[in-house]
Amino acid sequence: MTQHLIDRYSQVLQRIENACHSAARKTPPRLLAVSKTKPLEDIITLAKQGQKAFGENYVQEALEKIAARPDLEWHFIGPIQSNKTRPIAEHFAWVHSVDRIKIANRLSQQRPSDLSPLNILLEVNISEEDTKSGFSAQAILEMAPQIAKLPNLNLRGLMAIPKRAETSEEQRKPFAKMRELLQQLQQQLPDQKLDTLSMGMSADLEAAIMEGATIVRIGTDIFGARDYPSNTL
Ligand SMILES: *Cc1c(COP(=O)(O)O)cnc(C)c1O
Repeated sequence: MTQHLIDRYSQVLQRIENACHSAARKTPPRLLAVSKTKPLEDIITLAKQGQKAFGENYVQEALEKIAARPDLEWHFIGPIQSNKTRPIAEHFAWVHSVDRIKIANRLSQQRPSDLSPLNILLEVNISEEDTKSGFSAQAILEMAPQIAKLPNLNLRGLMAIPKRAETSEEQRKPFAKMRELLQQLQQQLPDQKLDTLSMGMSADLEAAIMEGATIVRIGTDIFGARDYPSNTL
């Protein structure tokens, strides 16, 4: 079991390395191990292999894991209900799924001032799907200046979950749009260090790396199929 998990993890690290080589990238993206629905023992196994950053979608489940391993770096990546912002603001280092101004305001108000600012990413509905949350590209350019000013938050960049596509060429299109959008936003906010593009999952990490992902979020290809169906994906 454990050896199997370590093998899968090594294979993902190898895929990342190969993709960086193909893309002629010197700096690899960070790997976020998406551990939602997976037991703490799997997290501990990977932590022993040197993995530091873990992604979670469900607040209650995450809080138990964080309490057990506060030394790891915890990223919230799931849909956010406004009545759940306080535990997120108090216990996570990063939030990838900020999709409304209201959520940004609440995270800012509720981030304890003795902690370092909460790193946030704005979620972009890059494939413009009715069923998906996230700002439109247009709304990002309108709203980000306001969000960048909020205290106790550090706006670091953008996150997206594009529509599923089969070919590498089709997968790359929305990721390329994300790269361009981040560049536009950086020009609009020259004083903000926007260094993060969170994109690429198990099925499309190579395409995301080709287009400049700085964080890839991998669940299934590390941990195997999820134990119970996720309500997000
Ligand atoms: C579950 C999830 C992932 C991981 O997806 P896999 O296809 O299992 O690698 C990445 N990002 C988000 C936002 C998720 O909810």
